[in-house]
Amino acid sequence: MILDKEFIKYAFKQKLMSLYAEDISELNKYHYFTALGNLVKDYISEGLMKTNKYYLNNRQKQVYYFSMEFLIGRLLESNLINLGIRDVCKEALTDLGVDFNEVLSVEKDAGLGNGGLGRLAACFLDSMASIGIAGHGCGIRYKHGLFEQKIVNGYQVEVPDNWLKEGYVWETRKPHKSVIVKLGGTVDLIKENDSFKVIYKNYEPVLAVPYDIPVVGYDNNIVNNLRLWSAETVDEDFDFSSFSNGDYLKAVEYKYSVESITQVLYPDDSNEKGKILRLKQQYFFVSAGLQSILRRYEKLGLPLNKLDEYIAVHINDTHPSVAIAELMRLLVDEKSMPWEEAWKITTNVMAYTNHTILAEALEKWPVDMFKKLLPRIYMIIEEINKRFCAEVFDEYNGNWNKVNEMSIISNDTIRMAYLAIVGSHSVNGVAKLHTEILKNQELKNFYDFYPEKFNNKTNGITHRRWLMESNPKLTNLINETIGTDWIKHPLELKKLESFAHDSSIQDKFANIKRDNKITLSNYIKNKYNINVNPNSILDVQAKRLHAYKRQVLNVLNILDLYNRLKENPNLDIVPRTFIFAAKASPGYHLAKQVIKLITSVADKINNDTSIGDKIKVVFLENYSVSLAEKLIPCTDVSEQISTASKEASGTGNMKFMMNGAVTIATLDGANVEIKEAVGEDNIVIFGLTASEVIEFYKNKNYHSRDIFNNDPRINKILTQLTNGFLNVSNYEFNDIYDNLLFKNDEYFVLKDFDAYVNAQNKINQLYTDKAKWQKMSIINIANSGIFSSDNTVAKYADEIWNIKKVYLKSQALD
Ligand SMILES: *Cc1c(COP(=O)(O)O)cnc(C)c1O
Repeated sequence: MILDKEFIKYAFKQKLMSLYAEDISELNKYHYFTALGNLVKDYISEGLMKTNKYYLNNRQKQVYYFSMEFLIGRLLESNLINLGIRDVCKEALTDLGVDFNEVLSVEKDAGLGNGGLGRLAACFLDSMASIGIAGHGCGIRYKHGLFEQKIVNGYQVEVPDNWLKEGYVWETRKPHKSVIVKLGGTVDLIKENDSFKVIYKNYEPVLAVPYDIPVVGYDNNIVNNLRLWSAETVDEDFDFSSFSNGDYLKAVEYKYSVESITQVLYPDDSNEKGKILRLKQQYFFVSAGLQSILRRYEKLGLPLNKLDEYIAVHINDTHPSVAIAELMRLLVDEKSMPWEEAWKITTNVMAYTNHTILAEALEKWPVDMFKKLLPRIYMIIEEINKRFCAEVFDEYNGNWNKVNEMSIISNDTIRMAYLAIVGSHSVNGVAKLHTEILKNQELKNFYDFYPEKFNNKTNGITHRRWLMESNPKLTNLINETIGTDWIKHPLELKKLESFAHDSSIQDKFANIKRDNKITLSNYIKNKYNINVNPNSILDVQAKRLHAYKRQVLNVLNILDLYNRLKENPNLDIVPRTFIFAAKASPGYHLAKQVIKLITSVADKINNDTSIGDKIKVVFLENYSVSLAEKLIPCTDVSEQISTASKEASGTGNMKFMMNGAVTIATLDGANVEIKEAVGEDNIVIFGLTASEVIEFYKNKNYHSRDIFNNDPRINKILTQLTNGFLNVSNYEFNDIYDNLLFKNDEYFVLKDFDAYVNAQNKINQLYTDKAKWQKMSIINIANSGIFSSDNTVAKYADEIWNIKKVYLKSQALD
């Protein structure tokens, strides 16, 4: 199939006809999207099949990226880009009188993730395919992805995300590849010669049905796979009479219970503690994924004791860490492998990424609950733990304290992060600072015990989506300026640096930013009826709403700036538009109050005619991948202001710099590395360092009341939160107020306030020097190549998975 313009026009009309039996003029953009999507998918499917065949024939080592979340967003445009047919498709559709961009905008986001962690998984899939790593995703096909956020009367309202309602063009259901996952019941071990036979009774069988989504590599003929599992009841002919017993109501209950497993993504950015459904989800997709991996492996005709030479499994955070026990179960119980051998293979296969040090997010399960749901897996974890504790005991000469501290099972809970560490050969953090904190604080015991396992892999983002797709004008300008090598070798963006001082080039970059800002201001005008001045500084904080990310600090500065302008209407500032976008977890009251605070401050300031356009505050609803793609190319100032030590890496920070934003940041997560990359003159750093924060926690010598009492600005602002100034009840923001004053401001908002205000003043002053600002912006773009996930994934492949790149010639496909 050769996709030239004439063929696309022909095939597109054919698709419309076969799908709808109507002429193009009778149909609308939704039909056009479906037709184009199907057309592209047909084309990709061939590549998927051929890539797979190549991998099998060459016994290519495969890596499977296990993740509870894949925040992939829209796929049509990124697939077209990676196939190299975006422009020709656009021309073909334009010839037919169809608005290409409108067709693209019809696609619903696949929002199967909460935020950074899920988006990272999606970027990794794109990069693995694009650099030629045989790597595939394994996850859950949630019927409802992350909720859709509406803002009503200033409050967040959650609407279920029914993304599958009209069907999903990119998936292929593969019922013949289904496997059965067993939940609950009891197990008996029957001695058989030297080994045991495991008998499962009264369990609930769940049919795991895979849906495959192709992952297209950039200009390299490779198509990998994202396999998402859906839970269904087993066929009637399967004998589950032992538990349903022909009882109609029981059968209905069974159906309901099974289907609930993949109904909905948990909308919390960290973990839902102790929720049995969440544990079911984890075991369900992990067991299904591993069973299908082993089934494929057996096709290679290789012995199981070589599994680790051909397979790597990566677990994205602790959520899938039950994979370690499940692989042991499959090898020992189902394949009769001796424990020691199975353990060696399992640890060689598995690698683990830790994503957070927030204590509330380190996953733990109550033993009682776990045992009931996964009786055999519990036994296996007990055995793993028994052997591990014995090793610790030996290593530390009988030091029971150490054993207690490190035991996987302790105080009737199972510490999944510990299981992940013990059962993997690699444990990585996601930014240099984060990895150091893991090694020296949170996981110090384990680092001392297994120093060789620990390593850093700083996160990354795919520059194809976050630059080429989201910012085509900037992409063209970069191509004109330094050529196109950077597309396959993103480090080549560095070549831009020599143009950073060239005023004619600076102007070109500035014009593109302005064009993008005009597009956004039109969008905001249409959707929110707010006038945004495209000449204002666009200052953006877009990320999940969380106390540690400190949207509140941003708001306090805005209020202070407003107060200063009221006192001194002639205050000389560049007009600034503060934009927020953030979803709050539905059960997270404080976070929801912060949204109401932002929208209340926006109402107050935007409606104060004496302020004019000197300050505008806008809350954009429903932050998602497609909104991020709109917003990031327009941004001048990227807000990365988490409490130092709390943000493991951040990836939003990388997307913004890649699009020429200047970052205002604490030295947290990957901000540290962004600063190293661009130099301290091209970023604005403020606030406590991670070690200062850790010291304050240790010494308990921070008292937020003192700051409140001594800083009249803070005193004034906090009073304004509670005295009707914001046209809400005096109690509206009591959680925020209490946290700052009576719960001693856990995230050091008041402590960092003064430094933040100064940093913001510095941004204002830097922006007044257009040439200087533009130079900073270009240097940021030029140094963003190291944050391409192509580099990140290449390091995973080299240093963790031990996998080489493959090169597929197009002939090899035929
Ligand atoms: C990149 C991204 C995130 C992560 O943002 P951080 O600033 O790193 O927390 C969250 N949500 C979406 C939609 C993203 O694209």
